[in-house]
Amino acid sequence: MTDCLFCRIAAHEIPSRAVYEDARVYAFEDIAPQAPTHVLLVPKKHIGRIAEAGAGDSALIGELASRAAAIARERGLADYRLVLNNGEGAGQSVFHLHIHLLGGRRFSWPPG
Ligand code: 5GP
Ligand code: ZN
Repeated sequence: MTDCLFCRIAAHEIPSRAVYEDARVYAFEDIAPQAPTHVLLVPKKHIGRIAEAGAGDSALIGELASRAAAIARERGLADYRLVLNNGEGAGQSVFHLHIHLLGGRRFSWPPG
């Protein structure tokens, strides 16, 4: 038992709308979508934030990014944004590493 929200979602202890799952990665619909496509991709292993990832986590983080691209491709998205917030000041609110896949509308730059 853990009190980490995304560990519990990845373990299906808390319901979510699954998009993709394998032994190492879980992807699910964001509960408060900021775009027509808003999918979160998490490692099943707990890593609090990208700054806490170790050298041995490189392949896993690569899997998250390439899986995000695969989901975008499946949804017919040519343009999309991947976001990974590290730390409260950068907008991180859940302290289990996750990549946001956002698509289906235009995005401005720089981000807010
Ligand atoms: P962060 O701000 O940490 O980069 O992103 C956290 C994201 O998790 C937010 O977009 C928020 O809407 C989403 N979120 C928070 N709680 C839940 C939940 O219980 N279920 C789902 N599916 N998404 C959540
Ligand atoms: Zn966790």
